[in-house]
Amino acid sequence: MAYLSKELNLVQKTRLKKLNSFGIEASCEQLVSFHSEAEISSWLALNNNQSERFFVLGGGSNLLLIGHVPYILLQANIQGVEYQEQGDDVLVKAGAGVNWHQLVMQTLDKGYCGLENLSLIPGNVGAAPIQNIGAYGVELKDLFVELEAIELATGDKLVFAHQECDFAYRHSIFKGALKGQYIITSVSLKLSKIPKLKLDYGPIRNELSHLSDSGITPKAVSEAVIKIRSSKLPDPEELGNAGSFFKNPIVSASSYQQLKQQFPELVAFEIADGRYKLAAGWLIDQAGLKGYRLGDAGVHKKQALVLVNYGDASGKDILSLARFVAKTIDEKFGVTIEPEVWILGEASW
Ligand SMILES: Cc1cc2nc3c(=O)[nH]c(=O)nc-3n(C[C@H](O)[C@H](O)[C@H](O)COP(=O)(O)OP(=O)(O)OC[C@H]3O[C@@H](n4cnc5c(N)ncnc54)[C@H](O)[C@@H]3O)c2cc1C
Repeated sequence: MAYLSKELNLVQKTRLKKLNSFGIEASCEQLVSFHSEAEISSWLALNNNQSERFFVLGGGSNLLLIGHVPYILLQANIQGVEYQEQGDDVLVKAGAGVNWHQLVMQTLDKGYCGLENLSLIPGNVGAAPIQNIGAYGVELKDLFVELEAIELATGDKLVFAHQECDFAYRHSIFKGALKGQYIITSVSLKLSKIPKLKLDYGPIRNELSHLSDSGITPKAVSEAVIKIRSSKLPDPEELGNAGSFFKNPIVSASSYQQLKQQFPELVAFEIADGRYKLAAGWLIDQAGLKGYRLGDAGVHKKQALVLVNYGDASGKDILSLARFVAKTIDEKFGVTIEPEVWILGEASW
């Protein structure tokens, strides 16, 4: 049985400022960091009677922490990536603790395609299925094969296949019926040696316009995505943030038509079931809130969907700003916007 070194892995009353991309000061009961499935199983065998007190922490890039977080935080710092070629395809199995962007870079270096549009998304592999991360017309679900996870209440190891994960826009079963019940230990994806590039979302094609057709490789797409993202999104190392704070709201076709009549410039995309996804950033911008500031909590100057910490904002400051933004959007457009980030601690949405 693997021995869990308490000195190495368990920290009491941890301060969390450096463990969340908002850079917000907060604390938790305990932080336990694991490096293997065996460590998780051994620890759970002794502690699983407290499973309702657990919260799984990844890279902390999709969280808003408020004050004291009354949880034992568990981190699956499992490293390692395995590759198995199957004809033109390749099965990639990555440990939950692998940094997502490093995985993207490593697969591209090896000549495996599929993850290029998902370059530069912060966080770790283990969190990627939770909200079915997505960017520039690609979502994790497009490449996902299966994941391995351990049930926190029992220590049982399970494999979840694609159809069991209930993936949707910024959603999976791990945000729904199975919320908070599993710690993901690995994720398997199917990539290809043959590029199938997706260039028609956002400004990617425009960014590549200086290249000939043969120059448009998966690496070139990744570089374009990195360039676009870097110009639009604040780097959490320089300005604390958690990426898009709100999800793009989805409305019925009739609500969309009404809004479009009232606001002809409305930015929206029709989705598969005939409803419309509205660009929350556009709504916030049109409400005059881009660059708006409440103390050290602000709406980013270039990207209205991103809330930022200018230095000493507390979790409560960011939450107050977020509530104000949502209320303003409701009053102006009659549209409800909801946080994409997880809110954890002394207050909730
Ligand atoms: C600048 C910036 C840009 C971003 N851009 C995008 C984007 O384009 N697209 C996008 O989808 N997201 C984006 N995000 C959000 C974020 O990067 C993703 O949600 C990412 O997957 C979070 O990973 P994390 O490891 O930091 O998870 P955390 O923030 O630590 O946790 C997020 C959720 O995942 C759960 N979780 C984490 N690890 C595990 C595990 N091993 N097992 C079970 N549950 C786990 C947590 O409990 C929590 O519910 C952005 C964030 C930032 C700061």
